Amino acid sequence: MSNPLLTMSGLPPFAQIKPEHVEPAIDSLLAENRRTVEQLLSGTKEYTWDNLVQPLEDMDDRLSRVWSPVSHMNSVMNSEALRDAYNACLPKLSEYGTEMGQNVSLYEAYKAVKDSRDYDRLDTAQKKVIENALRDFHLSGVDLPNDKKDRFKEIRQQLSQLTTKFEENVLDATQGWTRQVEDEVRLAGLPESAQAMARQAAVQKELNGWLFTLDFPSYFAVMTYADDRDLRSEMHEAFVTRASDQGPNAGKWDNSQVMEDILALRHELAQLLGYNSYAERSLVTKMADTPERVTGFLHDLAKRSKPVADKELHELEEFARIEHGVAKLEPWDIGYYSEKLRQHTYAISQEELKPYFPETSVINGMFEVVKRLYGISIKQVDGTEVWHPDVRFYEIRAEDGTLRGEFYLDLYARENKRGGAWMDDCIGRKRNADQSVQTPVAYLTCNLTPPIGEDPALFTHDEVITLFHEFGHGLHHMLTSVDHVGVSGINGVAWDAVELPSQFMENWCWEKQALDLIASHYKTGKNIPDELYNKMYAAKNLQAGMQMMRQLEFALFDFRLHLEFDPDVGARIQQTLDELRQEVAVIKPAAYNRFQHSFTHIFAGGYAAGYYSYKWAEVLSADAFSLFEEEGVFNHQTGLKFLRAVLEQGGTREPMELFVEFRGREPRIDALLRHSGIAA
Ligand SMILES: [Zn+2]
Repeated sequence: MSNPLLTMSGLPPFAQIKPEHVEPAIDSLLAENRRTVEQLLSGTKEYTWDNLVQPLEDMDDRLSRVWSPVSHMNSVMNSEALRDAYNACLPKLSEYGTEMGQNVSLYEAYKAVKDSRDYDRLDTAQKKVIENALRDFHLSGVDLPNDKKDRFKEIRQQLSQLTTKFEENVLDATQGWTRQVEDEVRLAGLPESAQAMARQAAVQKELNGWLFTLDFPSYFAVMTYADDRDLRSEMHEAFVTRASDQGPNAGKWDNSQVMEDILALRHELAQLLGYNSYAERSLVTKMADTPERVTGFLHDLAKRSKPVADKELHELEEFARIEHGVAKLEPWDIGYYSEKLRQHTYAISQEELKPYFPETSVINGMFEVVKRLYGISIKQVDGTEVWHPDVRFYEIRAEDGTLRGEFYLDLYARENKRGGAWMDDCIGRKRNADQSVQTPVAYLTCNLTPPIGEDPALFTHDEVITLFHEFGHGLHHMLTSVDHVGVSGINGVAWDAVELPSQFMENWCWEKQALDLIASHYKTGKNIPDELYNKMYAAKNLQAGMQMMRQLEFALFDFRLHLEFDPDVGARIQQTLDELRQEVAVIKPAAYNRFQHSFTHIFAGGYAAGYYSYKWAEVLSADAFSLFEEEGVFNHQTGLKFLRAVLEQGGTREPMELFVEFRGREPRIDALLRHSGIAA
């Protein structure tokens, strides 16, 4: 009986991987790895890269390559059986990870390599791998007395289960609410495409009429366009109360206690390691050095943006009052009247742009953009095993034909798929002992509007931006030239610099020269006419201040939760949010709003005490792009410079050093303020 997870080499055989393969494969690999470590450490010898670090890297790499498709399918093809299998492995993987991190002999062996003569002969990447490993031993509690080591291990296990539970609750709550509409009158205002999408959703469930769901494309369409205020209000309540003690499914998938427990355990874990807070612990691996630096940065941006945001809200209120007779704007009116204001002021609707963004032209255009910048070619490859018929597979080749990387593209929202958009790593780049190169493979996952009826999928401009963002992460992972997997691609990159390559790519979605490659009307094949482009560009910073304040609210909320946690009073989640809103909120949310209960970035993803990274890295990405503004958005030399200084380098060097190498100086905030219309 062979287990496809254990016999696979190269790309995962998605069609063959079944939930029953998961636990036995992980059990067998963990046992094998433990034996390998024992063997490597037995006998007295002089430790070197080749006899210690390399075999350990190979071993870890195999484990991540096996776990990667399991974890990925759990996110995009969730089922009860897979969920159970996945959850059964979590404590085992966590225990194994802590055990390795706390293994004193292993730690001593790494130290011996660092102190040996061999170390000087290693390249920058290898040295960085060893430095990171030594740092991570401390962060795993290698120095702790035994009783504390055990507690540390327990906490890590509980955290891995709790964060998964958080995410499951969000997925279940998102799928656990729908609104069937049978009266056509209620559809007024909704574009045809949104109506057709709701019709299609109803047909799939064998229902009459139209079905609205909490999947983002459906929710967004209603909040932006539906004239029916009750429908908006109802969906708003369902959406912002997901997985909480409020709203239509109050208490059913409630994350309240899960969040309390996660914050308490993170705090305890940080204190075990000698840090005052989890925020402090989080910064150990980031570019920002102190909590004060982070909060100072966020408050500074808030101070600059707040007057702009207040003015924008005032304009919106006046517009709704004067033009539409709305005395008081409720939270479920904001998106709707903002869209009306956009149409009124700039004579442009987001819907109007959609016909220019059919999927094929967007994807091919995006590939052409990076071809001009970096000289790489991308083409679709048929015949690769995937997890769903919608998924496609592509390869990236350098000018000389060398394979640089490959990726899966899973574009559309569907049932049993986690919401949002992200890039994940399937295979990382490394050089094998026989000198052959393992090329990187990425998963690019989005939840964009699916094709409806006979038409191709037509994207909103925001969706195009999302796609470029994730593709930027993907390029960072796939264009790396680093040979050691621990610091190749996005591995080992300080988290607050990780959003540099992704946000950087978004800039091309606003450049006419690039849009002429991306956008072509799905019926006429025409590019966006100048007049429409001018309107679209003029509307770019509509409510940029309000959006900025919202991001800052998320970032400050996350950071303060992790900085101020006090075991005597608990997490104070709602209180912290309420206090913070006094200072930074422009729009007063509904009393039932529990957005934090579905804030997966910080409770289930890697952004805990790190959500500020988006703004932090946006300073870098805006400033990096400003060099293209100076030298031409398709300047190939500038593109190659970015490729070599940033994309190829992975985590081998400090992000500031790489940035300076590219830009010729340290980052300045001016470009970000200018791009977002906060300052001229
Ligand atoms: Zn990102």
